[in-house]
Amino acid sequence: MLKFKCPYCQFVADETELVSGGEAHITRELGSSSEKDFADYLFYRKNPRGVHFERWLHQFGCGKWFIAARCTLTMEVFGTYSAQTLKPPASIIRKIKSRRPDWKGFSK
Ligand SMILES: [Zn+2]
Repeated sequence: MLKFKCPYCQFVADETELVSGGEAHITRELGSSSEKDFADYLFYRKNPRGVHFERWLHQFGCGKWFIAARCTLTMEVFGTYSAQTLKPPASIIRKIKSRRPDWKGFSK
């Protein structure tokens, strides 16, 4: 079972208290985006085998969204942080790189 520490209320919640919001750090290109870019934004999501960044809602707790960095193979959680953060904090990136030296790095 997955367990995440909510970055807001600091409660360690298991996944039954949370709701998954899918892939994190998805941005919509404004104005000059092509139809393909817009379709990618609407319909296509990464489904990596390994490090993944996901949105989670602490539904039965403080009710706030946060982002979790975890490995989809081992279920190891590298950390959580505010959903208003545009890219993963350096401390989480360092932790991932130390645990997964072959990781290619963060990309949107
Ligand atoms: Zn919370």
